Amino acid sequence: MTSQPSKGMYVCTLGTGGGPIVSASRAGTSTAVRVDGAVYLFDCGMGSIRNYRDHADWGELRGIFLTHHHSDHIYDLGSYMVTGWEVPGESFARPIEVHGPDSPIRRPAMSHDCGSSSEQDFVGPAMTSTVEIVDALLDRVFASDIAIRMADEGRSDPHDWIQPRNIEIPESAGAHPVDCRHPEMDPFIVYEDELVSISAILVDHRLCFPAFGFRIDSEYGSVVISGDTAVSRNLERLASDVDLLVHEVMDLPGILRTFPDGPTRDGIEAHLRESHTSYTEVGKVARRANAKSLVLNHVVPNTPGAADLTTMRSTAACDFGGQVVIAEDNDVFEVRTDSMTSLTGPSISSEQVVQPV
Ligand SMILES: [Zn+2]
Repeated sequence: MTSQPSKGMYVCTLGTGGGPIVSASRAGTSTAVRVDGAVYLFDCGMGSIRNYRDHADWGELRGIFLTHHHSDHIYDLGSYMVTGWEVPGESFARPIEVHGPDSPIRRPAMSHDCGSSSEQDFVGPAMTSTVEIVDALLDRVFASDIAIRMADEGRSDPHDWIQPRNIEIPESAGAHPVDCRHPEMDPFIVYEDELVSISAILVDHRLCFPAFGFRIDSEYGSVVISGDTAVSRNLERLASDVDLLVHEVMDLPGILRTFPDGPTRDGIEAHLRESHTSYTEVGKVARRANAKSLVLNHVVPNTPGAADLTTMRSTAACDFGGQVVIAEDNDVFEVRTDSMTSLTGPSISSEQVVQPV
């Protein structure tokens, strides 16, 4: 990121809003982690690409990691892949790996009355894998643009620059798309280079399977990105002793106040209750994980003034002894192991930084 020193580990919250609702104040969820001269991107929420370019060059990007396939986490994926493809002065410096969920093969239907599902309830269209999504974007959605630019400008095949990978869940975990979507398991490595090791674990995002949390370890420190999850023992295991935990947060009464009554509201309330983490729980998650600092993102509701940010932060701080910050777009946090994580950024003030209690 252009405003940070060339050495060190930094987290930039490119987009901090949760859900498929357009917000005037928050881009969709996306987080960049910079280690020395390399940038790793976690999720591609709506509008985040503009903030990416404020903080990093295309030549620094090494990989994109998708926590899950909900639209608010992948809206900008195609933009990220095509924008850095051989534009003079704005190009990838190396092939970009895109890691994300494989297809669960079939989609389970769930009764909102009993909250259960069964093998007999599979309905709806086939779901897709990360490789299929990437190929569809390059070979279908952007096919005309790509064909024209290859012929007109002499560009090479974008597949040479974009390398998708479906994350393989270890069989020993015993995961199943219906019966066991988030078994207790150990984290497993999905990516390594000379600067970072990135590991993943299944988290609890209700019917959304697979859904991952990611941990990034470097010589400077460690970061965990929760992805979307209800309170999850796996996430707490992934975040054990982590220097900086970036966790989703929800103000459930706040988001429900924005919906009109009706069956659609009932359905989404069930989704929210069982798929996400309330601000009344997130501080306890950080405490049980023994995290050093807690940054809250994927803020729901995401529209200006709809979430009670003051109550969200103070409640989480009461449950957790470390620093608690509700991220805004473009906040930057330095990650260190030799001391309490240093937090920097425009939203950090003496009022907002909560001292250990
Ligand atoms: Zn989600």
